[in-house]
Parts: sequence; C-alpha cells; structure tokens
Amino acid sequence: MAQQVDCPCGETVRGEDDDELVANVEQHISDKHPDMVGTMSREQILGMAVEA
Ligand SMILES: [Zn+2]
Repeated sequence: MAQQVDCPCGETVRGEDDDELVANVEQHISDKHPDMVGTMSREQILGMAVEA
C-alpha cells in the first residue's frame, strides 16, 4: 500500500511500500535537510507515515 510522509517543510514524500518510502524520505532529508541526516530512524519515518 502506498504511504506518504508530510515533511514539515511542506513537501510530501511518497513511496509504494515501506522500503521505498524510507528510501525516499532519507533522500529528501539528504537533499533538503542535510543537518537532519542520521537523526531519523526507519521506525521514526514509518511512525510519521500515513496512507497515501
Ligand atoms: Zn522536507
């Protein structure tokens, strides 16, 4: 099931499954929030996810 995370910066990051969502969020963080790299665990990312 597709999921999404609404980033506080206003962007919505989507993924078709958990692995893709986590990878896309980590990519977004490294692109847009480099100071947050390494601060979000997989569990935290999935905890923020909602069904897309
Ligand atoms: Zn963001």
